Amino acid sequence: MSERLQKVMAHDGVASRRKSEELISTGHVKVNGKVVNQLGVKVDPTDRIEVDGTPLKKERLVYFALYKPRGVISSVNDEKDRKTVLSFFKKVPERIYPVGRLDYDTSGLLILTNDGTLDFQLTHPKYEIKKTYLVKVIGKLNHEELKKIREGVLINGKYKSAPAEVEVIAKAGNSKNNSMLRLTIHEGKNHEVKEMLKAVGHPVEKLKRAEFAGIGLENLQPGEFRQLRKREVRDLY
Ligand code: URA
Repeated sequence: MSERLQKVMAHDGVASRRKSEELISTGHVKVNGKVVNQLGVKVDPTDRIEVDGTPLKKERLVYFALYKPRGVISSVNDEKDRKTVLSFFKKVPERIYPVGRLDYDTSGLLILTNDGTLDFQLTHPKYEIKKTYLVKVIGKLNHEELKKIREGVLINGKYKSAPAEVEVIAKAGNSKNNSMLRLTIHEGKNHEVKEMLKAVGHPVEKLKRAEFAGIGLENLQPGEFRQLRKREVRDLY
């Protein structure tokens, strides 16, 4: 997740933001070996920053699992000033960011880290990371509709979703005849679960991510987070 160079410098204790801007404009700062003297340049956690030849101290790498509540945005800042997932981490000094996203109205497991390498490995489509969702839909999927989800459904007439695992875990008898599904996908297209179920005629009413890359919510409550265990981090790599 990119951030302005002067903000990163200030955060790492080089100088105040104003003074950091001065250092940049006067040519004291290099990013990946090249002098950057324009303000407004953004850097990633993997970029190498030097001030007068001295590298910024590297943050220790940290990894968290958050139970994201509904009504919270999965980004570091929001132009509409809505509550972001970072608001739960005020006491964490490292510059963490979410790995992938959950919709504003989706709850569940979100990993946050400052490890850019792991972020890439968990979000790049070629790694086909598994995500499991508990999905409340309107109506009850018949055999044919479940088969479509399992084999891939055409989304908006544009692309076919990759094969998914799905099982019906509850059929409630309320007026909307909702049912609950457990669905595992390994793609990460925008609103993928909602689109898949809309495509078979059963819109999603509620969506919660139960697992991501084998990491579960365990006993977290909405808004709570836990640090990943060493073994969990090792297994993610
Ligand atoms: N699929 C969706 O439709 N929304 C999410 O938040 C995650 C997966």
